[in-house]
Amino acid sequence: MTQAIRIHANGGPEVMQWEDVPTPDPGPGEALVHHAAIGLNYIDVYFRTGLYKSPLPATPGMEAAGTVTAIGDGVTDIAVGDRVAYATGPIGAYATERVIAADRLVRLPDAIDFETGAAMMLQGMTAQYLLRRTHKVQPGETILVHAAAGGVGLILCQWARHLGATVIGVVSTPEKAELARAHGAAHVLLNSADIPAEVKRLTGGAMVPVVYDSIGRDTFMASLDSLAPLGLMVSYGNASGPVGALDVGLLGAKGSLFLTRPSLATYTAKRADLIGSAQDLFAVVQSGAVNIRVNQHFKLSEAAAAHRALEARQTTGSTVLLP
Ligand code: NDP
Repeated sequence: MTQAIRIHANGGPEVMQWEDVPTPDPGPGEALVHHAAIGLNYIDVYFRTGLYKSPLPATPGMEAAGTVTAIGDGVTDIAVGDRVAYATGPIGAYATERVIAADRLVRLPDAIDFETGAAMMLQGMTAQYLLRRTHKVQPGETILVHAAAGGVGLILCQWARHLGATVIGVVSTPEKAELARAHGAAHVLLNSADIPAEVKRLTGGAMVPVVYDSIGRDTFMASLDSLAPLGLMVSYGNASGPVGALDVGLLGAKGSLFLTRPSLATYTAKRADLIGSAQDLFAVVQSGAVNIRVNQHFKLSEAAAAHRALEARQTTGSTVLLP
């Protein structure tokens, strides 16, 4: 038997139930992974509430690290006993073990423990594609990063500094501002500030070439107004709610802006891209340029408490759930 969090209806954290489910056998191309740690991500909230759709009943979660305990026919890249991690759909990571397509698994370097692996794959590969592919951050650039003390945020701050960029972070409290500063943000603004005016002041009027905005509804316009002409608006999350419909003409009026709404799934759809992104992440973590901060631990059976903390903006850095 496997123990798993299951939801039978969308709703608040209370819909997550701790249940016994039969342990599945891996089919062709699949592997059974015994989880040592599971990563908590904001996308788990979107699937729980129903903002993102999945058939029910469902087990949330898109990220974990553990050991391969069985493989199906045709699996050649991954073997029983391998230490692996993953960050991918379909959901189902909030379980003591699960079956998953073997070509979505990445072998963990020996120096990276399971907790760190579970904490960093989804948020870290997101930071990788945002900084290295969506916009190739250049030394000397000044960039704007929302939720700078969060899971993705702390990785973005450190990695962007490592690339030679100046990070302006945005957070909600002075404590989070301190944390973002300690992880590479050169300037930190509280979200109560007039963000475009502060960006104007900090950049001597130049504004920024790229904004990484994971907040969505509450910050979208301020982000557009912080961009230099021809700047790139990267709207990659909806922690405050979806942005909704947009008058495309605004992009012209505000300076021939570019807009993208990227997702990790697209950037890692090809196995070569998945492996490339993971290797790039492992390299910055192992060199010490990026430190993965696992600032909260919860029992997997108490995932509801973890969701409450995440939604109440009480977490910083990454959070893991332990079976
Ligand atoms: P975080 O640790 O960043 O937690 C979310 C943070 O968002 C909060 O701590 C809070 O920081 C801020 N926030 C602002 N407004 C709200 C609000 N109304 N309710 C709750 N939080 C709010 O989470 P993750 O690192 O897991 O994810 C960050 C974002 O990145 C999410 O939006 C997620 O969906 C997105 N994401 C997108 C991916 C993609 O490929 N598109 C992949 C991975 C993540 P503060 O208090 O400082 O404002």
